[in-house]
Amino acid sequence: MWDNSLNRYIDISNLRFSDLSVHRPSAAKRFAGEWRKQTVRTLSFLLTAIFAAGLQAAENLNVLGNKPRWSVLEHYQQTITRDEFEHLVNDVYGTHGFASDLIEIKGDRARILMNRDAQKFFTLRFAADDSGRKSVPRLWRPAKSLPPMETDKPLSGLKIALDPGHLGGSWAKMEERWFQVGDSTPVQEGDLTLRVAQLLATRLRDLGAKVSFVRDTDEPTTGKRPDDFRELARKILIKNGVPQPRDDVLDSIDPEKERTIRWQSEILFYRYSEIRRRAALVNFKLHPDLVLCLHFNAEGWGDPTNPLLTDTNHLHLLVNGSYLAEELEFDDERFEMIRRLLSRAYDEELPLTDTIASTMARDTGLPPYAYPTTNSTTKVGRSGYVYARNLLATRLYRCPVVYCEPYVMNSKDVFARIQAGDYEGTRNINGIERKSIFREYADSVADGLVDYYSKARGGGN
Ligand SMILES: [Zn+2]
Repeated sequence: MWDNSLNRYIDISNLRFSDLSVHRPSAAKRFAGEWRKQTVRTLSFLLTAIFAAGLQAAENLNVLGNKPRWSVLEHYQQTITRDEFEHLVNDVYGTHGFASDLIEIKGDRARILMNRDAQKFFTLRFAADDSGRKSVPRLWRPAKSLPPMETDKPLSGLKIALDPGHLGGSWAKMEERWFQVGDSTPVQEGDLTLRVAQLLATRLRDLGAKVSFVRDTDEPTTGKRPDDFRELARKILIKNGVPQPRDDVLDSIDPEKERTIRWQSEILFYRYSEIRRRAALVNFKLHPDLVLCLHFNAEGWGDPTNPLLTDTNHLHLLVNGSYLAEELEFDDERFEMIRRLLSRAYDEELPLTDTIASTMARDTGLPPYAYPTTNSTTKVGRSGYVYARNLLATRLYRCPVVYCEPYVMNSKDVFARIQAGDYEGTRNINGIERKSIFREYADSVADGLVDYYSKARGGGN
């Protein structure tokens, strides 16, 4: 999540395959929507789009976005008070401001824009007060709704899905999550996160949790591949001011690579299609009480075959929030934000993430990461390590999501620990006796979960 890749974390898309002219030629005409430039990002030509939908007023959807199902929000009528709604909009989700017609709060209701062209709005009615609040419909269970804790099993009955970030394996170079120092073992984030997930799963099961994996191999969960997105990638580039996009990337440091069909189709595959597919698994199959997204951080390393190693090392965790004004313009993203807000995932994920941040900070000794700007994040919670940010995974997984970003992979210290691999007990690395970096990571997350659920469930000690 280093600076020169910030743009890739913008949610350009949730692929709706039926909307792609690549797959259904008749959809080509519907693709004739206007395209909008990302104004706040360095790479302004990237990947934002407005689709026209059928004969009705154009819906303003993100490139691969799903058509919002606003009627779902009817189930949330009178489940939230006006005060709570205002707090979550102002302090968590809409911290960067937004156009005044998107959400208007008046009296006992909020008016939420569904479609600007058609001037259609959704009306959300507030609960009069706490005692009049209807229960929130949701499939996940907050800590206080779990069955009583079994002795010595603080996570008993808790359903946790582990989401090891990225793919690793033969995909790591394409994902730009690969670097190699000389002849040493290449560092591939997707392999590191999977190793942590496997160790963590064992610990969590011992603590009573029911653990599932969103990914448990180094192969994609999506059935799509980059070639499936070539036509879409070409259209995106043309619409964003690259009239004759090149087919291929010259090499890994090609400064124009992001203007090629290859690079765009690959990112549509490994980020947008892949995460979309993972979200479908989480939401329709796994139904966990929470998802742990496991990542390793990095600072810009330049040429991956001759990477820059740094002295910088740090930790931070993310929860969903801090939407940009331009992200909220998209009908699908606004809908997803409102649904998430109303699900009250934040009430659970913030204290949980804060607790995990504290044990990770204690066990790793890492200082908090400070984002260079506040353009896309908002600091939240009390630990000093947690930020709200609108990432695709944290928005789409319909349950509390804890997104971990410890360790700068290309720091000298972390690099040495990764090269040492996994081992039991401790070893001397750079003059200090330490656990393997994988076990330290897994144990620090497990410790946080134990702290949080022991207290929140009120049983045991
Ligand atoms: Zn990552």
